[in-house]
Amino acid sequence: MNALLLALLAAAPGDGFVKERFGNHAVAQLRAPGVAELSLSEKKVAWHLSLAAYAGEPIAYDQLGWSNLAIKALLESVVLFGLKGDGADPRGFDARLSEYLKKLYGHGGNHDDVTGQKFLPEFTPEELSQAAKRALAAGAPLGVKDDSALEAHLLELSPALFDPTFEPLLTSKAPPPGKDILTASANTAYGRDVALSDLEGFAEKNPLNSRVVKVEGELVERVFRAGTPDKKVPPGLYAEELSRVVAHLREAMKHARADQRDALGKLVRYFQTGDLKDWDAYNIAWLKADPKVDANLGFIETYVDARGQKGQWEALVNYRDAKENQVMELLAKRAQYFEDRLPWPEQYKRKKVSPPVAKAINFLAAYPQPPAGINLPNEQHIREKYGSKSVLVANTMEAAAAVKRLPLAIEFSRTEEERESARKHAVTARKWLVAFHEVAGHASGQVDKQAGDTSKKLAEYDNTLEEARADLVALWHAFDPALEELSLEHEEVARQMYRSFLVEGLTNLHRVERGDELEEDHHRGHHMTVSFLIEKGAVRQVSEGKPPHTYWDVVDFPKMREAVGELLTKLMAIKATGDYEGIKGLVQRYGIKFDPRLRDEVVARVKAANVPTVTLMASPQLVPALDKRGNLVDLKVRYEQSFVDQHLERALLGSLAPAEATKLAAQIAASPEALHEALRKRAAAPSSARRE
Ligand SMILES: [Zn+2]
Repeated sequence: MNALLLALLAAAPGDGFVKERFGNHAVAQLRAPGVAELSLSEKKVAWHLSLAAYAGEPIAYDQLGWSNLAIKALLESVVLFGLKGDGADPRGFDARLSEYLKKLYGHGGNHDDVTGQKFLPEFTPEELSQAAKRALAAGAPLGVKDDSALEAHLLELSPALFDPTFEPLLTSKAPPPGKDILTASANTAYGRDVALSDLEGFAEKNPLNSRVVKVEGELVERVFRAGTPDKKVPPGLYAEELSRVVAHLREAMKHARADQRDALGKLVRYFQTGDLKDWDAYNIAWLKADPKVDANLGFIETYVDARGQKGQWEALVNYRDAKENQVMELLAKRAQYFEDRLPWPEQYKRKKVSPPVAKAINFLAAYPQPPAGINLPNEQHIREKYGSKSVLVANTMEAAAAVKRLPLAIEFSRTEEERESARKHAVTARKWLVAFHEVAGHASGQVDKQAGDTSKKLAEYDNTLEEARADLVALWHAFDPALEELSLEHEEVARQMYRSFLVEGLTNLHRVERGDELEEDHHRGHHMTVSFLIEKGAVRQVSEGKPPHTYWDVVDFPKMREAVGELLTKLMAIKATGDYEGIKGLVQRYGIKFDPRLRDEVVARVKAANVPTVTLMASPQLVPALDKRGNLVDLKVRYEQSFVDQHLERALLGSLAPAEATKLAAQIAASPEALHEALRKRAAAPSSARRE
């Protein structure tokens, strides 16, 4: 973390990251320090890859719901042409419309991206109709000629917008009577009338990047592809968007180093042909390339499709940040050192630790919601032969920690001194904990050779053990003098790591609404550790004030570290020997039961602290600087742009050719009004024509 961020955090916890709040949502700002240190070529690659990401975004909306693009176009027209002007009233129409639009942007449609459940607007059909009429009268490009055509358009969108029983779930794994997992799912992986039984005996050629539809009763596979320039492969579904993506990729190739240029060339070929052999060739080349600025673009994760076949459009552009990568470098350089210093017996230590391949990156452009870690490609046959790239995403983790964990760390700190430490170090402590947990924790230790597959023997307790063990490894190493390399304040960060660990354990209770038992593996592992530390006298439970506020307080740090080592040693011995009774005893004794009165207190305090339940991430605004001839000479980042404007700009830039998009982005950066002006001028047809 740089000095500026530290100062921001110290001044106003979380405020530097919380961009907007509405309902139970927060929009958190992803920061991108380190862009200034990229070379000009890297900046150019980053810019054009980001434009490629924007160009593909309409695909993502279209995949997540039949009406998403039409709803988005309608609401954006209202924002640009038909607002009521009651923006000062936080519950007025304009605010309610904007909240719904922000959720639509953040979730990629009107289903929650985590639960898959549909969310509804807080404005009425009548309010929307009036606003749409205002927009039409003001010249909005709604693609209808008069009010009655507009009414018909709105009526058509009405069930998707307002009816909670219409397509209620993005992905339905337990369909209601009369429907199956495909017909009950709102996503567009298959035509609306395609049932699971229809697909029996139907073999897709391009399962990852196609939609299967019925044409006159026959199944047809519509492949996502731009088509080849020689016309040998004709254009397919999303040809328009993918052609734009390809144009931006070609620009990026001009400035990329040889290994990346080779990979991007293969990606272009894949987007043109849609052939999965070309996708494999790209992934192999991508694995071999190690550029500082990198991207994941394509149809990648398959969990939205109930059949687990169809890939969702994903576009993540990132760069390796030297500062953020320090933890990973330390973990790589000292892999053997950290293993040797673990508290358990020599026979369970790995003797030849190969340095981990993980790196720390920051996202520049991310859609859909950015993950905190990536491990790709997914294709098992490529992973086995060529390996995979694994990254931790520092700026996602940082923003999430600042918006959720930091306010909780402050609320659940007992003294002013501890609150101050949380403000200063909680975000860094979180990043270090995750890095050590993922890279040094899960990978550590070796099991008895004769013991066979011990994770099978540990059965339903294996995950609980493994999560607790990885956390304990991180806590064990937190005070290691080698961490001085990361920060002169590493001991303060280590203490905060310990305190934050206790806060997390306590606040986990608010996730279990009923009963007095923990079910989830991470929760159980965490609770087991804290209960063990309390029993050892290293941590105490303190209740103060009226109504009582309970804290889990470190008695003293060396004592806590000693107890951490003791439990860690026990867990490693259990893992190494596959001691089912051993882990069962620990989990049953320490990990499951909790005091429901304490949970009720925690629930009340979390609620009072007004911590958001859903965090949407805003990418940094990328600002190209151009010379007189329109050449890109620099790329900067800004954080002031509103979440709505960010998405309006991305959609606009994504619809243009490379040179035009670059020029317009520079104009928008110079004068923010240029964005709305450009959008109002553009007479785009609504994008509802694609349904089949
Ligand atoms: Zn884990």
